[in-house]
Amino acid sequence: APSTVPTADDVLARRHDVLAEVQEHYYTLPPRIERGWREYLIDVDGRVYLDMVNNVASVGHAHPHVVAAGSRQMHLLNTNSRFHYRAITDYADRIAATLPEGFDTVFFVNSGSEATDLAIRLAMAATGRPDMVAMREAYHGWTYASDAVSTSIADNPNALSTRPDWVHTVDAANSYRGKHRGADAARYAPEAVAAIDELAASGRPPAGFIAETYFGNAGGVALPDGYLREVYAAIRRHGGLAIADEVQVGYGRLGEWFWGFEQQGAVPDIVAVAKSIGGGQPVGAVITRREIADRYRSGGYFFSSTGGSPVSAVIGTAVLDVIQREGLQENARAVGSHLKERLERLAAKHPLIGAVHGSGLYLGLEFVRDRETLEPATAETAAICDRLLELGVIMQPTGDHQNVLKIKPPLVVTRASVDVFADALDRVLTTGW
Ligand code: PMP
Repeated sequence: APSTVPTADDVLARRHDVLAEVQEHYYTLPPRIERGWREYLIDVDGRVYLDMVNNVASVGHAHPHVVAAGSRQMHLLNTNSRFHYRAITDYADRIAATLPEGFDTVFFVNSGSEATDLAIRLAMAATGRPDMVAMREAYHGWTYASDAVSTSIADNPNALSTRPDWVHTVDAANSYRGKHRGADAARYAPEAVAAIDELAASGRPPAGFIAETYFGNAGGVALPDGYLREVYAAIRRHGGLAIADEVQVGYGRLGEWFWGFEQQGAVPDIVAVAKSIGGGQPVGAVITRREIADRYRSGGYFFSSTGGSPVSAVIGTAVLDVIQREGLQENARAVGSHLKERLERLAAKHPLIGAVHGSGLYLGLEFVRDRETLEPATAETAAICDRLLELGVIMQPTGDHQNVLKIKPPLVVTRASVDVFADALDRVLTTGW
C-alpha cells in the first residue's frame, strides 16, 4: 500500500507553499533534519551531518541536562512572567554574575531582535534623545528599531538608503576588507569619534552607539585594538550610552573572553544577548544598570509575556550550568585555536582563501578571487557549502558579499570533529566544488 508518510520532497514543496518566502533555508536541496546530538544532526534517512554552523545549539543538540531541566519545568509550571516564581530571579542573578560590576538589572525577552530593540529604546529613554549611531554592515534584528540600525546589504540590498533619519552610521571597522586595512585600521575609531562629535555639534547629540563587539556579521573579524574604548568614550562624553550586541559573539564562544567587549578592554552600558543563551529555546536578555533601567519607567513600556517564563528561565540557567561545569569556554579556546591553525595551513595551500578570521569557535574563512583586489568569491562560497553538505558537513556563508564561511559550531565540538571539517574543506578546495 502507498505510504502516507510524506517524503522529504513533499515537505519541501509544502514549505514553499505555506511559509513566507523570506523564511528560507540555505540549500537548494536541504536535508530534512529529524534529530540532533552534540555537534551532529541526523536526517530522516538516518544520515549524520556535522553541524559546524549552529551557534543557537551552544551546548550541543539535545543536551541531557537542558532537556531534563526544561521537561521537569514543563510538567510543573509554564506561565507568563507576571507571576512570582523563583527561576527568573535565580537566572537573572546568574547572568548578572557573568558581567562586570554595575550590571545589576536584567530584562528578559525572547530573541536577539527584541533584545537589541529594547537596548536602543532604553538608551533613547534614558537620554531623552532620538538619534542613534550604528556601525555599518551590521545585522541587529528585524523589529522596527533593531532593523533600523541594521545595514547589512546581505539582508536588505537597499539597507543604507532606507534608514529612518534618526539612524546615523559609521564605517564598518573591518581591517581586512574596508576603507582602512591592516595598520591603517587604527583610523576607524577617530573617524567614528569625529562623526559623533559632528552630530553633537549639529545639535543632535546621540542617545547611543550600537555595534557588535566583535564583527560577527563579517565572519568574526576582531575590531581594531582600542576601537570600542575610543568610541564608547566619545559617546559618553556627549551624554550617550554604549550598547553591546553580544547576540552572536558573547557567552563564551570567543574562547579567551566570555563577552566580546572584554576582547576590546571596554565596558558598555547596555548588553543585548540571545540565541546561544537559550540553547534553542527562545531566550533573550538585556542587562544594564539600575538607573538606566529606571528611566524606562517614564520613557517606554516593557512587558514580555514569555520573556523569562519559568521554562525559559530554567532552560537558560541549565545552559549556563553546562557552559560553566563542562568548561565550554575553555573548549572553545582550545578546539578553536586548533581549528584556526588548521585553517591557516589550508590558507597557505589554497589561494582562494584570503583570510582566516576570528577567535575561539567564532571563525570566518574568507574566500577571494584575488588576494590583492580582494574580489569576493561569492559563487564559489555557495558552491563550496553545497559540496560540503554532500560530504556531510553543514556550513553556510555570511558577510555583505556572502563570501565568508561562518564557522560557529556548538561549543561542545571536539577536536576530532573539527578535523573532519578541515579535512572535508581541504578535499573540496583540492578536488573542486
Ligand atoms: N544581533 C545579531 C548580531 C545577530 O546576529 C542576530 C541574529 N542573526 C540578531 C541580533 C537577532 O537575533 P534574533 O534572530 O534572535 O532575533
